Amino acid sequence: MEPRDLSAHVAYQAGRGIEEVARELGFDPDDLVKLASNENPFGPSPAAVDAIRTGAGNASSYPKASHTDLTARLAKRWAVEPVQVWLANGGDGALDYLSRAMLDPGDEVLVPSPGFAYYGMSARYHHGEVNDYSLSKSDGFGLTADTVLSAYDGERIVYLTSPHNPSGGVFSLDTIESIADETDERTLVVVDEAYGEYAETETAISLLDERDDVAVLRTFSKAFGLAGVRLGYAVVPDDWADAYARVNTPFAASELACRAGLAALSDDEHVEKSVETARWAREYIYETLDASTWESHGNFVLAEVGSATEVADAVQERGVILRDCTSFGLPECVRITCGTKDETKRAVRELNEVLSA
Ligand SMILES: *Cc1c(COP(=O)(O)O)cnc(C)c1O
Repeated sequence: MEPRDLSAHVAYQAGRGIEEVARELGFDPDDLVKLASNENPFGPSPAAVDAIRTGAGNASSYPKASHTDLTARLAKRWAVEPVQVWLANGGDGALDYLSRAMLDPGDEVLVPSPGFAYYGMSARYHHGEVNDYSLSKSDGFGLTADTVLSAYDGERIVYLTSPHNPSGGVFSLDTIESIADETDERTLVVVDEAYGEYAETETAISLLDERDDVAVLRTFSKAFGLAGVRLGYAVVPDDWADAYARVNTPFAASELACRAGLAALSDDEHVEKSVETARWAREYIYETLDASTWESHGNFVLAEVGSATEVADAVQERGVILRDCTSFGLPECVRITCGTKDETKRAVRELNEVLSA
């Protein structure tokens, strides 16, 4: 007995966890600062924590009302119809629904390199093939229409990450529109706005009023601090939004996730604090870190440090976990998640000491 041929598939490499590193290095987990996975340093909104506690007693029921309520709430927030909101188990789950809805076996997708690994993984799970467009470090990872279109060859889905992970850059709405204009009618442009709250740019959801070839991905994992509950969604054009009913896993988001999401959406203060602090931290890192950085619109900053693995290991021995970007194809870069003010200062201090050693 064997699974199908999975040799083209690669496992996702997550940032390292606190427990894992604490055990390995003999640290008390409380002495470690984890700035490796772009999580929210303030944790979830207290309102979401309450909602999860209260909702626990309802865990025996399928999430029918809460799913409907959250969908309606998000539809209102983005001024779209409820059918256009595809709730999922994390943004990653929404990427799977888009693959299921769009890809026939052998269809190709176009993904950024460096970029978020799950686009390609999801396409392969759905018997698709993966091509990439290169963002070049020497070009400052510039996110232009040309960069994408010069690699484009009729793919079924084109992924644009804005803000881009790991560089932090953004696509302007004009650029997104030109890409959608220039690609074939059957090509869907997916704009991944996992870090949308941290950016000053307008959401691409506004393009859906007039277009049927753009979909937007959002998540509760970053600015809303709910990475552990797994809640995200795609906003898709009205024309084909009803495909969700035919591709989704029944009850795509859990009762606790839906309740937490609803509560988090009411806690503007928590999101504002998270976004303000990330903006402060970005500036602090640009100004204080003794390494070159790229301007970021997310809750992280990419920095060029020499040998990323060596530097990340040395900083980790000092209790700060950063993301070694070797797995992104950037062996000379680390990505620093914006922490609280104290965490960010400590990370920069330790990193500077390692760099000057
Ligand atoms: C974090 C992230 C996501 C979504 O993650 P989920 O936790 O599955 O919601 C999507 N795209 C990018 C680029 C990300 O960094």
